[in-house]
Amino acid sequence: MRKKPNDRPVSQEERRRLLFKRMQIVIALFILLTFVLYMVQRSVTYQVDSLALDILPQADLEKAAVLEQEPDCLIVWSDDAQGRAASGLMSDVMSQEKVPYETVEASALAAGQIEGYRNVVLATEQLDTLGERITEIMEWAENGGNLMFFDLPSQSGYLDLIRGRLGIVGVGSNYSVVEGLHFCIPFMLGSGQRDFGITNPYESSLPVLLDDTCTVYMESTGPDPVPILWKRDLGQGTVVVMNLDFTDKIYRGFYLSAYSLLGDAFAWPVINGSTFYIDDFPAPVPQGDDKHVTADYGMSVRDFMSQIWWPDVQEMAQEHGYRFTGLVIEQYSDEVSNPLPVNHDLNRYRYYGRSLLKMDGEIGFHGYNHMPLVLSNFDYRGEYDEYKVWEDMDAMVSGVTELNRFCSSLYPGEKFQVYVPPSNILSPEGRQMLHEQFPQIKVIASTYLPDGCCYDQEFEIAEDGVIETPRVISGYILPDFAYLSALAELNYRFVNTHFQHPDDVLDEDRGADLGWAEMSRRLDAYMDWLKAAAPDLRDLTGTELAGATQRYCSLQVEQTATEETLAIELGGFVDEAWLLVRLNGHEPGPVQGGELTPLQDGLYLLKAESSQIQVDLK
Ligand SMILES: [Zn+2]
Repeated sequence: MRKKPNDRPVSQEERRRLLFKRMQIVIALFILLTFVLYMVQRSVTYQVDSLALDILPQADLEKAAVLEQEPDCLIVWSDDAQGRAASGLMSDVMSQEKVPYETVEASALAAGQIEGYRNVVLATEQLDTLGERITEIMEWAENGGNLMFFDLPSQSGYLDLIRGRLGIVGVGSNYSVVEGLHFCIPFMLGSGQRDFGITNPYESSLPVLLDDTCTVYMESTGPDPVPILWKRDLGQGTVVVMNLDFTDKIYRGFYLSAYSLLGDAFAWPVINGSTFYIDDFPAPVPQGDDKHVTADYGMSVRDFMSQIWWPDVQEMAQEHGYRFTGLVIEQYSDEVSNPLPVNHDLNRYRYYGRSLLKMDGEIGFHGYNHMPLVLSNFDYRGEYDEYKVWEDMDAMVSGVTELNRFCSSLYPGEKFQVYVPPSNILSPEGRQMLHEQFPQIKVIASTYLPDGCCYDQEFEIAEDGVIETPRVISGYILPDFAYLSALAELNYRFVNTHFQHPDDVLDEDRGADLGWAEMSRRLDAYMDWLKAAAPDLRDLTGTELAGATQRYCSLQVEQTATEETLAIELGGFVDEAWLLVRLNGHEPGPVQGGELTPLQDGLYLLKAESSQIQVDLK
């Protein structure tokens, strides 16, 4: 074969030079890679340090001006089981949504006592406890008062006396079982896209025939719908009737929404935050196989988690702009006494944790293991056979100390301010220990609805300053009740909190039989519903949600609504505040001291930029 002119043999010297050049390229690439990794790491740390909404020092809140307020609302209740429950729920609504109010037992209501209140809520089904005062109340409404019936009064001569003024033409004799709620007017956020099934329905509502002066907002689902919520002008005032007697805390959002239909306008403070938690993440991934995973994907649980579950969950969050707060479990041992062994298997923690942080998420504490922070005096009420109690306070402290060491070495720069109790169980001793020994923990996120021996919470600042941010819904099954709960809280505090676990997919009680494809479809559908219901809802991490909760809890609201203006004065205002505003029969004009975003017909999101806001009304 002929050699080309320049195709000459390479000398030893040249070969060495070539090799050196290649080594230089490799070294340069290595340095570049190191730099890229450093920058990635740096950007992770940077994101962690720059939470959009941090927790305020208590002193800042204490400095904020406090308002002297006169009561706006009078709750008239009857001293029977229904009246007490109704009054309790309305009192929660008024105090949490910062409406100054008073209560009076119906038989103690004095002549002329309702004068001076803007709104009156009748929290009684028994009009006879009011006697002739009911006539006075109706006249007060006709003269410009705003009257809400927490529930339709039961059949009596008194109801016959006033029913015409409630727009009622006829009343059925038997109560109806309301199995679902349909919104004739989608006046609540998220209410237009679907109906809302009721779990454990009972005979809660009187079938009524209304005249056409009534505006019906909600009715029952099913072939013979019963009006559930309507409003009617009465003289110069307004009457709003809820024909539903549900007093579980989850219904607060419905009663508040009904209340907001009274008068020209009503504003209530909100959290404005959405947080998705992943409990037990990062945590050890179970070894071996699972029948559902094997059947559907033909792979081990570990491979499924890294190749299917996490990519799917990440994609869902990114598609919707949601952020995750992951809660670490160091290991699944049942050790509850010293010495506690250390987990050295760190690779998956690094991978998942950093991947979560890169999505602008946050990492908090769940547990050294999954044993709740409880001592021997705690009663699991027979619900958790697999759980132990910690041997003593020292061992319990050691558990959290070890978790803190473990997490700090894995995720330097993270503050670990959020604590989620394992299985939402936390004893008073465990809670106090966390607060005293680990002051970095500023937030506890457990459960909103009472459930057995769980630690249920309100959105509030506890007396010791810890911020309580309960989770309202969870999991992938997302039954009707989850949507009803989410709807209620979205309209109550403009908040969404949801938690899921990686191992939900292995647990038949949490949907494993559905298979991951269906489970993930359901969560995706929920995320779609939420985004459509509230595109302006802020996506926050656990700490940011606590910052938002803290600001919301500290607010007081003084409001005056006339035909021309809604004037709002805020007490406890530090740097930002959010309110939902309902305008009844008005359009907003210019706004001073804040910014108003239309959400849907009649409902607006107000960002307060000062403690004095004025919305002109048209
Ligand atoms: Zn857990």
